[in-house]
Amino acid sequence: MHPLSKRLSRYFLPVLKETPAGAEIVSHQLMLRAGLIRQTAAGIYAWLPLGLRVLDRIAAIVRCEQDRAGAIEMLMPTIQPADLWRESGRYDAYGPEMLRIADRHGRDMLYGPTNEEMVTAIFRDCVKSYRDMPRTLYHIQWKFRDEVRPRFGVMRGREFLMKDAYSFDMDMDGARASYDAMFTAYLRTFAALGLRAVPVKAPSGPIGGDLSHEFHILASTGESEIFYDSALDTVDIADPEAPAQLRRLYAMEAEEHAKIAACPVPPERLARRRGIEVGHIFFFGTKYTAAMGMQVQGRDGAMVTPLCGSYGIGVSRLAGAIIEASHDEAGIIWPEQVAPFDVGLVNLRPDEAAVMAACEALEAKLAVAGRSVLHDDTPARPGEKFATMDLVGLPWVVTVGPKGLAAGTVELKRRATGEKAELSLEAAIARIAG
Ligand code: ATP
Ligand code: MG
Repeated sequence: MHPLSKRLSRYFLPVLKETPAGAEIVSHQLMLRAGLIRQTAAGIYAWLPLGLRVLDRIAAIVRCEQDRAGAIEMLMPTIQPADLWRESGRYDAYGPEMLRIADRHGRDMLYGPTNEEMVTAIFRDCVKSYRDMPRTLYHIQWKFRDEVRPRFGVMRGREFLMKDAYSFDMDMDGARASYDAMFTAYLRTFAALGLRAVPVKAPSGPIGGDLSHEFHILASTGESEIFYDSALDTVDIADPEAPAQLRRLYAMEAEEHAKIAACPVPPERLARRRGIEVGHIFFFGTKYTAAMGMQVQGRDGAMVTPLCGSYGIGVSRLAGAIIEASHDEAGIIWPEQVAPFDVGLVNLRPDEAAVMAACEALEAKLAVAGRSVLHDDTPARPGEKFATMDLVGLPWVVTVGPKGLAAGTVELKRRATGEKAELSLEAAIARIAG
């Protein structure tokens, strides 16, 4: 058996028949029902095997686009010393969202809600010259924010997985280039995940300028309300000009939109939709480098306080956002690029040697083609097996049974369209691998 493929009889996939009470939105309901996550405390979830596979694939796509943009991966700890945050002045400013902990020696620690202080301290202690600049560092790490109202499952958790990147530049031109590279990387990331994200101008704080954007996935259950130029919907993300075009077009969260006297978009072009914030990028200049005393020697010998930006993506939130954007009555419809397995294999007679042999042959051949299989070899009734496959939403479902085998065929179903075909084993494999 291919190491990526699994037999359901030996797997851990606790699906639920009933919609769990208290799960308000469809992604939360489906993540619980399809055995992706289990709540362990308010806003804190265990990622079960199937959910972990999805989370890993999302993280891999995020990582790939960060690397492509020139960012460098590292890994900082979740637990941070309070003293770091005293340096920046945020220890007292952060408020009750921060989980504060004392170690056995009575030292104040915290579970990181974000990493500006820590990355600035590390970079400050290691980099002294313009020769080691500019750099953008990132990690994919768990965060904790004691949200007032954790809800919607992993969409607003207290513990959640974030990709956070931090750029350090010598001058404003460099900082702008770092920001632009991340803007483009974000568009590519969401497109690679099968999502269309709208970049929304966000308040840029005391520094001003236009270097602050949130990225929203449009969905009726989104927590934010957005007003935007519907011309945004028609921009071709694959076009190299897309980032520039998107930044020219109006998009604003409702609260900010309300403050604008004359809306720059003609009424017939103004769209109003709800969105899920999946990313946020912003430039904050010398805020932390100045507070924490970071200086780098410039080419001319003068000391420079580096200019910085932060760039976050809600990796675990994305799992929910993808389901909000892609599901039907029967369950999840995973985009191929993040599906936990490529193929669901419904074995109608695991007790019949010939059927089992055909299923094993299919697994082996799909493995050669690089496709992973979840093989339902349990004694459950066919109806139950089909319902589970629809619920977990793998892109392809192959059904193998004695009748089909006698005629030399298996059934191949495309989850997204429901389209079915009776094909030879070889033809089914070719269709899946093609
Ligand atoms: P929100 O407005 O949703 O609270 P935020 O402004 O606090 O988000 P950032 O600090 O910019 O978010 O964090 C970067 C990204 O991390 C967000 O764009 C979002 O996708 C994700 N994120 C933030 N808070 C949570 C949470 N409680 N649960 C899951 N993901 C989160
Ligand atoms: Mg928040």
